[in-house]
Amino acid sequence: MSEETGLKDQLEQLVRLQEIDNRLVILKSEMARIPERIETARKFLVESQSQLSQNHAEGETCNQRKREKERDLETCEERLSKARNRQNEIKTNKEYQAHLQEIEAFKIEKGRVEEALLTLMEQLDLYSRKEAELAQTVKAAEQKFESERQQLEKQSEALKTEWGVVEKEREAIVPAVDPKLLKMYQKIKSLHREWAVVPIRHGTCGGCHMNVPPQMITEVRARQRILTCSQCQRILYWPSSAEQPAAVKEAGSPQSPAASS
Ligand SMILES: [Zn+2]
Repeated sequence: MSEETGLKDQLEQLVRLQEIDNRLVILKSEMARIPERIETARKFLVESQSQLSQNHAEGETCNQRKREKERDLETCEERLSKARNRQNEIKTNKEYQAHLQEIEAFKIEKGRVEEALLTLMEQLDLYSRKEAELAQTVKAAEQKFESERQQLEKQSEALKTEWGVVEKEREAIVPAVDPKLLKMYQKIKSLHREWAVVPIRHGTCGGCHMNVPPQMITEVRARQRILTCSQCQRILYWPSSAEQPAAVKEAGSPQSPAASS
């Protein structure tokens, strides 16, 4: 009787240890993913910042071209006024015709420059309107990222705290498990990763779902000795009545401790 209680207790400890170990694996991977999740959250901010600076650079180039055209326009105006001033020096009709042609050519050139300048000013206006819009986007992205970052850091702290609690529980349980059983558990777990101790459900092994012979089921229920599945070598246990509804509910692999908690 005492042996049965002892074995029942050992198996319960082992199942709990398995839950702890699986939880630790989940916690570890979640903690490891936090920096990556922060970087993902930062992505939109970085993108909008780069759009803003690109727009700014393009606007600057446009502004330079505008200043060039303004200088061109000044040159055109100077040429035109110089040409007009030469009117007094004109003596012949031929010279007068040439003078008119020259002025006409300067006027056409000036018109072209003015048109280009107008286009550049319109472009510049678009750049500056877009800059205001993008600056708003960046501001919103900064706020959003900041709040996401804070949330993720909070999550990280919560994960670390839970890790500490769970690990303490592990430290308390490990000495309570028979060393031979613990070694067996670790060996099976290294092979099967998550599940080394599995319940018998509907007459099958909770790990590989192969039928467990009725005689073995009886022995597992009686908790007289540690029995392993002949197919997958996992340690078998008879689930407590509290676990049964969960066993009925799920059809696939043993229920994850994370999902049940
Ligand atoms: Zn099995």
